[in-house]
Amino acid sequence: MKYSFEDLQGKVCVLTGGGGVIGGVISDGLAGCGVKLAILDIKKEFAEKTANIVAEKYGVEAIGVAANVLDKSSLEEAKKEVLAKFGKVDILINGAGGNSPKATTKEEFITDANVNSLEDTFFGLEMEGFQKVFDLNFLGTLLPTMVFAKEMVERKDGVILNISSMNSFRPLTKIPAYSAAKSSINNFTEWLAVHFAKMNVRVNAIAPGFFLTNQNRFLLIDEKTNELTPRGNKIIDNTPMGKFGEPEHLIGATLYLLSDLSSFVTGTVLPIDGGFNIYSGV
Ligand code: NAD
Repeated sequence: MKYSFEDLQGKVCVLTGGGGVIGGVISDGLAGCGVKLAILDIKKEFAEKTANIVAEKYGVEAIGVAANVLDKSSLEEAKKEVLAKFGKVDILINGAGGNSPKATTKEEFITDANVNSLEDTFFGLEMEGFQKVFDLNFLGTLLPTMVFAKEMVERKDGVILNISSMNSFRPLTKIPAYSAAKSSINNFTEWLAVHFAKMNVRVNAIAPGFFLTNQNRFLLIDEKTNELTPRGNKIIDNTPMGKFGEPEHLIGATLYLLSDLSSFVTGTVLPIDGGFNIYSGV
C-alpha cells in the first residue's frame, strides 16, 4: 500500500496523562503501529500499568514515568529518563487535562427562580477549582511543550498533538473554566504551529466530543439510577450520530495527525464529536 502509517514505526512518543482513559487507548493505537512510548503521569503506577499492557500486547518498548505537567523540574527529570532510554523524542502528545466539580456550576442559567441564592451559579464557583482546571489544561500543555519540543526544533523534526475539547468552539453550560481553558489550547496550538513552522515541527490538536469517562460521568449518568441525566439526554439529542463517542474513535485522527500523511497540516483542531459541533439542533 502506498499510503500508510508505517512511518510511525520506531518513532518515540511522550504522552502526558497517559495513565488515564484516553491515554490508554491512544497508547494502544500508537503501540499497534510500532511507536515506542514514554507514558508520563502524575500517578506513576497508572503510567506503568499502561506501559506494561501495550509492551506485552505489541512487543514495543514502553516505559511509565512519573511527571507532574505543572512542575517544570519534574518534567526535566522525566525528560532525562526518556532520553536515557530512547535517545530522542519525535512526538509529544499533551494528554493531561480535565474538569473538576469545584469549577462546575449546578445551575445552567440565572433566572428569577434562583437569583436570590446565587451559590449554585457562577458566583458560587470556587477560585481554587477554577485555577486548578485552568492550570491543568493550559499550563499542563505549555510546560511539557517547553521541555520536550526543544530537541525537536533543534533536530528540525517533530510533531505535537494537543488534546482540546469540543467545548472549546462553543462553551458548554456549567463548565466555564474547562471551556475557557480548552479554548486557550486551540489558540496556543495555532500560535505555536506558526512559531515552529519553519523548523519542521507541526502542532495540531484533536477536540473530542462526549466520551463517557471518569471526569464527566458525574454530569452525564445518574449515580443512583444509572440512567442518563437530563444533560446526558440533551447531548445525545444534539449529536447527529446519536451516541457518545468511544475512546477508540480518537485513534484514527491521532495517527493521521502524527504521521507523514498529514505532513502539510499544522495548526488545526480536529473535532471528533459525531457532528455535535456543527449541528444547530434543527
Ligand atoms: P483521565 O482523568 O482518565 O486521565 C487524565 C490523566 O492525567 C490521569 O491519569 C491523571 O492521573 C493524569 N494527570 C492529572 N493531573 C496530572 C498532572 N498534573 N501531571 C501529570 N498527569 C496528570 O481523563 P481522560 O478522559 O483520559 O482525558 C484525557 C484528555 O482528554 C484530557 O485533556 C481531557 O480534558 C480530554 N478530553 C476528554 C474528554 C472526555 O469525554 N473524557 C472529552 C474531551 C477532551
